Amino acid sequence: MRYENLFGKTLKESPKEEISINAQYLIRGGFVDKLMSGVYTQLPLGWKVLEKIHGVIREEMDGVGGQELFMPALHPRSLWEETGRWEALKEIMYIIKDASGKEIALGTTHEEIIADLARRRIYSYKDLPFALYQIQTKFRNEPRAKSGLLRGREFIMKDLYSFHSCVQDLDRYYEKVQTAYLKIFNRVGLEALMVEASGGTFTKNYSHEFQVLSESGEDKTIYCPGCRFAQNVEITNLKEGDPCPSCRDFLKVSKSIEVGNIFKFGSKYADQMGVFFIDIHGQRKPVLLASYGIGTTRLMGTVVEIHHDEKGIIWPPSIAPYQAHLVTLSVKPDVVKEAEKIYRHLAKAGVEVLLDARDESAGVKLADADLIGVPVRLAVSDRTMAKGKIELKKRHESEISYYTLDEVTKFLKNRL
Ligand code: ATP
Ligand code: MG
Repeated sequence: MRYENLFGKTLKESPKEEISINAQYLIRGGFVDKLMSGVYTQLPLGWKVLEKIHGVIREEMDGVGGQELFMPALHPRSLWEETGRWEALKEIMYIIKDASGKEIALGTTHEEIIADLARRRIYSYKDLPFALYQIQTKFRNEPRAKSGLLRGREFIMKDLYSFHSCVQDLDRYYEKVQTAYLKIFNRVGLEALMVEASGGTFTKNYSHEFQVLSESGEDKTIYCPGCRFAQNVEITNLKEGDPCPSCRDFLKVSKSIEVGNIFKFGSKYADQMGVFFIDIHGQRKPVLLASYGIGTTRLMGTVVEIHHDEKGIIWPPSIAPYQAHLVTLSVKPDVVKEAEKIYRHLAKAGVEVLLDARDESAGVKLADADLIGVPVRLAVSDRTMAKGKIELKKRHESEISYYTLDEVTKFLKNRL
């Protein structure tokens, strides 16, 4: 992509009410555009990052046998009344009326919808187990939408639901998803702790949250730096400095961002909504359910909160919008021509490159490259051409080195 053609250029400033780092950098970098509080457009650059995050998630969900589907965002009131959650979640539900006056909610989550689907499609033990997931927009009328992508009123979530005939099978699968979740966070450049937590607003059962330690988080996690034991401070009697209950190291407390949350519902939905199967002995039994969520737009915001410096974002290579940002340090025609040649060569080799050959000063282009945060910056100038090399700098290091085009190509291909 040539930067001059990219829709959504860098901005000098972000809206002044945007106080979070993630919103400031993502808006200034041309990744997202703010429509209103807690509601953002993913611009082409942002959507590229988000789709890479979704790609990682899809691989791991498919890896645990998840099948992707796509459910509606318009939910009939009747389904939510079956579980009593119409009342419980009314505060944060966007409720609208259709032409006949019937009330409809914009989806906050999809347990009721998928339980309804399941009860009409499961007959016997032969239909179990299975796991379904989607990557879809959720709507929650959040009162405090001030943390940029960390708290949207309209946001994207990956939600997986698994259905089982017995507790052992549910437990086994739940553990598999725990491992897949840790892998996902790791692959997108985050270290997440698996934290024991309450079921929250959505259930009375306990759950596991995945928390990334960060001062910009709204949660608080007490954790052991040694063995990674961790609990949400909301459910614990432990305090900072106490010995760890599992390894006797000393506990620490930190603010944290909840990037994922997984729940074992057991037979709750089966009981409330009548989701049954006929077992091998011909007996009617409740289908057991677990659900597993990751806020993907929140995850994108979290990566920015963790990976940035005073100049801008530093994307982990796995989810960077491009692998290399190629900049011309002069506007001389032969320098531009050389950059175009390198750009075509790398593109042919399958490397995603952002070429900035604008008629701007080197300073402006380098500052934009730092703000956008592509992990490798390449630069071409009279000096590099005289050497027959290309300047290469990694976004997270200050060191500059010079390589031939072949070496650069090899280096970038190895990172794919
Ligand atoms: P929070 O406590 O932050 O309000 P929650 O516990 O209500 O979140 P869940 O219902 O557990 O959220 O949703 C699953 C995941 O969806 C969360 O772990 C989080 O990553 C994401 N998520 C929830 N609410 C939002 C939001 N308003 N904006 C962006 N992502 C969100
Ligand atoms: Mg939660």
